Amino acid sequence: MNPINADLHCHSVVSDGTLQPETLAARAKTNGVQLWALTDHDEVAGQRRAREAARREGLDYLSGAEISVSFAGLTVHIVGLGFDADDATLVKGLAATRGGRGERAHDMARELAKVGIDGAYDGALRYVGNPELISRTHFARFLVESGVCPDTHSVFRRYLTEGHPGYVPHRWARLGDAVRWITRAGGVAVIAHPGRYRFTPTEEYALFTEFIAHGGRGVEVMTGSHSAAEYLRYADTAIEFGLCASRGSDFHAPGESRIELGSLPDLPGRLQPVWELLAPRVQRAAV
Ligand code: AMP
Ligand code: MN
Ligand code: MN
Ligand code: MN
Repeated sequence: MNPINADLHCHSVVSDGTLQPETLAARAKTNGVQLWALTDHDEVAGQRRAREAARREGLDYLSGAEISVSFAGLTVHIVGLGFDADDATLVKGLAATRGGRGERAHDMARELAKVGIDGAYDGALRYVGNPELISRTHFARFLVESGVCPDTHSVFRRYLTEGHPGYVPHRWARLGDAVRWITRAGGVAVIAHPGRYRFTPTEEYALFTEFIAHGGRGVEVMTGSHSAAEYLRYADTAIEFGLCASRGSDFHAPGESRIELGSLPDLPGRLQPVWELLAPRVQRAAV
């Protein structure tokens, strides 16, 4: 049996992507995606549009969000899948997580002004689709537009990250809270792109064990953030911890994202796909 083409991680204008949910659904369809989830950062405001667009395109759909969490002094992303997007505790938790973004953005702009980059707040705001969700990505696009850097990846190498101008530390949600908001709303929590975090082996072990203790069930193995070596490494990690595996491009924008929607290699056959846990939560495409 052929594995299905599932893409369970991407972003729309409702967070830091550049495409509308409907445009993403059409692009997923064109690229052969069969099961899709829109996972905007800290926000479910795009879920209804994504779900309806998926129905029109004939795609199976799972609700999604990518929650920003602070753990051991670093930011970790937890993807939630298949939850009830109207769940009051989840919606309130996401609103609280988004809460500090405006003030943080003003602080980032002040830090950038100190190195001679003026007008960054207003500049970033021009790229924002959702006023509650101003992110570093919007600043990165402004820095590219102003000619400070040639592309967004070089922005994150030289600015906006720890030790570089424009970086402002921020306290996000707690790991246990994020996992519980997702699971109590009927969904499954997944550790996003574990290869991206600069944890020591001990801290990474703590992340996985605490995540599981709180009720987390999955880990992204195939993601646009991982190298081929990391695909193998986190396949082993999934098996070691008894976690299901997920697959998602983390697509944000044409010409900006390394991996196109629906175009990652399949999950290794030895892993249990997270969507097997979520079968009852899938909105099936009309046949
Ligand atoms: P924020 O939630 O405001 O901290 O912004 C985080 C977002 O910045 C991520 O979701 C990515 O879209 C983007 N980002 C972070 N690091 C990088 C990087 N090294 N290269 C490209 N984009 C990045
Ligand atoms: Mn992003
Ligand atoms: Mn992420
Ligand atoms: Mn993402």
